[in-house]
Amino acid sequence: MIKITLPDGSIRTYDNSLTAMDVAKDISEGFARNVISAKFNDTTIETSTLLTTDGNLTLYTWKNEEGKKAFWHSSAHVLAQALEELYPGIKLTIGPAIDNGFYYDVDFGTHAISEKDLKTVEDKMITISREKHDFSLREISKADALSYYQEQNNEYKVELIENLEDGTISFCDHATFTDLCRGGHIPNTGIIKAVKLLSVAGAYWRGDETKTQLTRIYGISFPKQKELKEYLEMLEEAKKRDHRKLGKELELFTFSKKVGQGLPLWLPKGTALRHRLEDFLKKAQTTAGYEMVISPHIGQKELYVTSGHYEKYGEDSFQPIKTPKMDEEFLLKPMNCPHHCEIYNFKPYSYKELPKRFAEFGTVYRYEQSGELHGMTRVRCFTQDDAHIFCTPDQLDAEFEAVIDLVEYVFTSLGFENYSTQVSLRDPENPSKYIGSDENWNKAENAILKAVKSKGMDYVVETGEAAFYGPKLDFMVKDALGRSWQLGTIQVDYNLPERFDLTYKGSDNELHRPVMIHRAPFGSMERFIAILLEHTGGNFPLWLMPEQVIILSISEKYEKYAKNVLNLLENHEIRALIDNRNETMGKKIREAEMKKIPYMIIVGENEENENKISIRKHGGEDLGMISVDEFSNIIDIEVNKTLKKFNV
Ligand SMILES: [Zn+2]
Ligand SMILES: [Zn+2]
Repeated sequence: MIKITLPDGSIRTYDNSLTAMDVAKDISEGFARNVISAKFNDTTIETSTLLTTDGNLTLYTWKNEEGKKAFWHSSAHVLAQALEELYPGIKLTIGPAIDNGFYYDVDFGTHAISEKDLKTVEDKMITISREKHDFSLREISKADALSYYQEQNNEYKVELIENLEDGTISFCDHATFTDLCRGGHIPNTGIIKAVKLLSVAGAYWRGDETKTQLTRIYGISFPKQKELKEYLEMLEEAKKRDHRKLGKELELFTFSKKVGQGLPLWLPKGTALRHRLEDFLKKAQTTAGYEMVISPHIGQKELYVTSGHYEKYGEDSFQPIKTPKMDEEFLLKPMNCPHHCEIYNFKPYSYKELPKRFAEFGTVYRYEQSGELHGMTRVRCFTQDDAHIFCTPDQLDAEFEAVIDLVEYVFTSLGFENYSTQVSLRDPENPSKYIGSDENWNKAENAILKAVKSKGMDYVVETGEAAFYGPKLDFMVKDALGRSWQLGTIQVDYNLPERFDLTYKGSDNELHRPVMIHRAPFGSMERFIAILLEHTGGNFPLWLMPEQVIILSISEKYEKYAKNVLNLLENHEIRALIDNRNETMGKKIREAEMKKIPYMIIVGENEENENKISIRKHGGEDLGMISVDEFSNIIDIEVNKTLKKFNV
């Protein structure tokens, strides 16, 4: 008799061995139709794998990440088969599932393939899928596996197999196609209903540029045509919202080859936007008891040796700056924390003066390979909305909760309603990996868990994911297109207080170590504004908009009246400008739409005679003719909808 335990804790017993799919069918036929992959005791298996012992079984559908992985992994096999049939003699290398789809790296030999050929490959894949071939996994000896690929002269697979242990090697067959594979497939090709090959790119074998350049084909597949259609629409929308494109159109930031790769230049409108964000956070931080500090952009190498950052960023980052003095070396600051530790060290504190909360919009520099750079999301110079809290271990609970409140306030004020968190804890099996006492770790981990629970937050716990110096909480937001981004982070640290010998005098008159919290709700201003641009498509919350209103006069005759309106708006602290160019009204409206300005005010004879203004919203809605006071009320209401006061 075997006992199968399901994720909900329920146990099913069976007289004989049976497959994972049999268990699915036993649960319900309807459920079984959706099951596409399975895991048994933490090992990915085939749905056709025979279960012969007691154990925990998880069955996955397309809705689970594991299910998608099996689906896309299996699709890569179908892609490989299609390519082999269309381009005889090619050499297959590796073809994994990725976050969104799959790819296969292929040595095409004398064949050539380009994006225009992809449609033919897609059609072939669909034909194979419709034939509904079962995937089946079989073990194979190392010697047989090697000779199979030696016969094909495929040196890549041979190299892969040579690095595997005999007894752990398997092949996957479907139709007439065979591939080296560890397993984790959907039951058959028939489940793949929609395929799109997205691009062709170059990729070096094993990612090593001294080795052969292969051709990488990216694709994605779905169990329904409708899902593919939605995905492609999402990609189109993402292209439109690409922050690099919008940043240019809205004149927020730019890059210059002369200045250097990965070094953003903030244009006036982008700077105004960034200042507004910074002021917003500064205001909330002041309410929350933070004090602003400023530290230099460089520091002595010794500082980062003390902090341990030299070890982490030294070799692979910007190299030390030398001075005319021998042996004097400075580093561009990769982190603000060491500077803030020395700010704390300026004078002795008693426990009564803690916590100290030092905040700085601190610019840091990290060398990224040019291939890794991407718009504003991956740069070599960025400004963190950084702060470090120094507190007693007993204050940790309250401080942690207060930081979460601040982060949540930031997200909701900016329209990120959908977010989740990840709690990273110690690996209990490996206590020697971590510094700091057990007692303090327990305190910190409990503080985080207590805070996320009491706030009713959506969280997952990742054991073993903590840094060696402390546990942390990361915030993941979902943007308007359903993509996940990691934003703010809150991290407890026992390491730097030790390294910088930070102390406070306790109620017992003895010296104690404070606990340090690192936190940055935005993360980096550059990356945050990029994500916000893609989330909102440039239609920022009204309170943040560089220009809230544009005034368009119907002809030169009403320019004076337009100026009057502008003055009135400025008295109401509404950010407005006048477009008095000699252009048609149609053109002015189109351009204001492009710039995403939320409100257009149109003034002409009627408006001037009645001392009113006509309002057109971005997108075309007509609010009719109203007074400036009424309009100012509309703006106030909209601003207050998203931007509330931060209370502690
Ligand atoms: Zn496989
Ligand atoms: Zn820090």
